[in-house]
Amino acid sequence: MQKKNYPDTLMRNRFVIAAAAIVLFAAMAVSVFVNIYTDNTNELKESMRGLFCAHFIDVGQGNACLLSDPDGKYMLIDAGDSENSVYLIKYLKNLGVEKIEYLVITHPHEDHYGGARDVIRNFDVEKLLLYKEFKDTYPYDTLAYVLRERNENSATVLAGCGDNYTFGKAEFEIISPENPDLTNYNDSSLALRVKYGDTAFLFTGDAGKNMESAMIKSGYELKSDVFCAGHHGSSSSNSLKFLQAVNP
Ligand SMILES: [Zn+2]
Repeated sequence: MQKKNYPDTLMRNRFVIAAAAIVLFAAMAVSVFVNIYTDNTNELKESMRGLFCAHFIDVGQGNACLLSDPDGKYMLIDAGDSENSVYLIKYLKNLGVEKIEYLVITHPHEDHYGGARDVIRNFDVEKLLLYKEFKDTYPYDTLAYVLRERNENSATVLAGCGDNYTFGKAEFEIISPENPDLTNYNDSSLALRVKYGDTAFLFTGDAGKNMESAMIKSGYELKSDVFCAGHHGSSSSNSLKFLQAVNP
């Protein structure tokens, strides 16, 4: 597939903030930003004040989503490819990010992990969260090594199905099915459901229809307010049955 002309995309999105939804639940306010790029950092920061935000960042043909909580904690899910990491890093620096509590890599494809090395070099990543099924395999061993070199107090966390983690006042659970087919990296994605108050966000990496069926069968809670469409919105993912279960 032809890669899009990235600088043009940036120009088009400049000064444009697409706030897809602002949802208020009691005192737990949430906002979603899609493909934003702005030089007006103050405006962006102002619109984030007091909110738990999901930023779906335009990194060309790849995936990167930043979750930010009202207390200034950050979690990055995937880091796009290495070619476009400069845009991701600029976006994070514009927000004033210095520390990233969790850097989650859903699966070992370049368009998800390629920018991770530059993220680790530019920010203080506290925890690198990888799917334990890929333990000691490239590129995960390299990322763990780069992280250790950068900060020996950082930790590589090997996540497994059903594991739960805390991120500020939010929680997230790994909902990947047991015994994935490791010859198919997409269907071996780390899937996570993040819950902040009554609002849930679902990330399934590049999971295809087989993995989606397995997630339905596994009985995990899938219903989510915001769903980052699987495999970049591919027709080989996002089955009707799965979308009905998630009902975003
Ligand atoms: Zn992908």
